[in-house]
Amino acid sequence: MIHAESSTPLQELIDRSNRLGADRRNTNYGGGNTSAKGVVTDAVTAEDVAVMWVKGSGGDLGTLTADGVSMLVLDRIRALKNVYVNTGQEDELHQLLDFCGLGPPGPAPSIDTSMHALLPACHVDHLHPDSVIALAASVDGEALTNEIFGNEIGWVPGQRPGFDLALKIDAMRETQGSLRGVVMGGHGLTTWAETSEDCEQLSLDVIRRAADFIERQGKPEPLGALRVGFDPLPTDERRHRALALAPIIRGLASTDQRAVGHWFDSDEVLDFIGREATPRVAPLGTSCPDHFIRTKVRPLLLDLPTTATPGEQTARLRQLHAEYREEYRQYYDRHARPETPPMRGADPAIFLIPGVGMFSFGADHQTARVAGEFYINAINVIRGAEAISSYTPVSEAEKFAVEYWMLEELKLRRRPAPKSLTGKVAVVAVGAVAGVDPAIGRAVAREFEDAGAVVVVAPDDEDEAVDAAVLQFGGVDIVVGSSHTHAVATMIAQGHGGDIVQLGGTKSLVAERATELAECGIRVNGIAFDDDPDGRAVARAARALVDGSLANTTGLIIPISR
Ligand SMILES: [Zn+2]
Repeated sequence: MIHAESSTPLQELIDRSNRLGADRRNTNYGGGNTSAKGVVTDAVTAEDVAVMWVKGSGGDLGTLTADGVSMLVLDRIRALKNVYVNTGQEDELHQLLDFCGLGPPGPAPSIDTSMHALLPACHVDHLHPDSVIALAASVDGEALTNEIFGNEIGWVPGQRPGFDLALKIDAMRETQGSLRGVVMGGHGLTTWAETSEDCEQLSLDVIRRAADFIERQGKPEPLGALRVGFDPLPTDERRHRALALAPIIRGLASTDQRAVGHWFDSDEVLDFIGREATPRVAPLGTSCPDHFIRTKVRPLLLDLPTTATPGEQTARLRQLHAEYREEYRQYYDRHARPETPPMRGADPAIFLIPGVGMFSFGADHQTARVAGEFYINAINVIRGAEAISSYTPVSEAEKFAVEYWMLEELKLRRRPAPKSLTGKVAVVAVGAVAGVDPAIGRAVAREFEDAGAVVVVAPDDEDEAVDAAVLQFGGVDIVVGSSHTHAVATMIAQGHGGDIVQLGGTKSLVAERATELAECGIRVNGIAFDDDPDGRAVARAARALVDGSLANTTGLIIPISR
């Protein structure tokens, strides 16, 4: 057990992190990391030990608690200098952080831990602010950084986080006594100070000065004019078009792995998609490592105007998607080495549809939403960089090195294992079935949510609930109810099959529908019950029908007996 002599630095660190993380202008969700240094008494030796508290990998600053902070022995991290020879050892060195703790292991420390440790200042912030990344991703980012911050904030060229970068930043600090932070090319900001308060003020000050500079010096329309035919559709028409396209797009995005979607149609997104410069800047991809790991190296931008019919848009999307996959495969092959982790899937995570908005995708709804939010960060960065200069993200080789870096791979592997229905969208339309207790619908919804699905519960109209599922999550995979015509059309548009669980139908009806829909990969099964007061028996049966346990079964009716 470790008794913190002074818990103040840790508490200050948590409070500062929460304040900084609460404002998305300071850092993206889950992005950036902070640290504090102090002294604790080692319970084993009764000696004082200099330690560093640093945010664990993957957590969010806004909601950071003591459980999300790792504590490491400062001298041991710094002693890694003794074994460090070259950049080929980055992964190995990071693993050695496991041997730098004091007491039971906490969360895996941030991938920027060595940078925090090598800097002597007591408090260090590393953030991903859109305004600073706009400088960092400008072709003349170094000159702009000099112009705005003089010799107070330095410039370090784009490079993967790690020990080598940490040594470079600390060497700069040592030779330039006035330095209080660095803009990291194509990436973000690192600042340091002796007190938590000074560090926070400095971070906020640098972020504000960068934003002010863009505001004051930037072009009024950095991405050119809105293109006619690519501008935002009126709300109703936009919704209509989103309903038609979302299942098709979700089907494409799920080619390698079933993905849940999220639709964004905010002004900033619609505006970006419609601008003259977007076909030039969007293919350049995103810049900050956090951005492109979640959003893939670049989005898929539909290049047809809003006057195109949904049929034309669908055909073009299929074509662009096939090209995207081919290019992604080539990108992987160009840069992969024998030790590179296997390709993670070649589908885009971000689809930009003129007039309609952005559809983002991920293995679950939270991942999908965050990917879209990160792309909005990228939009702000691209717009800011084009306002003051020319947007120039890090090189493709550097992006690949980060995307397929072992440490990022480990970060992904630490995520909880998917549940049996993760990635599936379910509509529970029990309320629409005559004579069925709504408690049964609630029990089924709970059962599906426990298994990882996202669920829309229909109080009465099943078709409306299917539309809600399409707009909220991109489509539908599972329907529990009685009619299903609309749901079937949506499943066919997605092109990856589906599950229908019929309540209150006859045996012959279920068998007939099962035969009819088999060629579309849609399975139709039923549950027959007279009474199930709390709905749990029906819910368990419904889950067994859709969770893959009975993947080759269609046309079955499961009887429930009391
Ligand atoms: Zn970073």
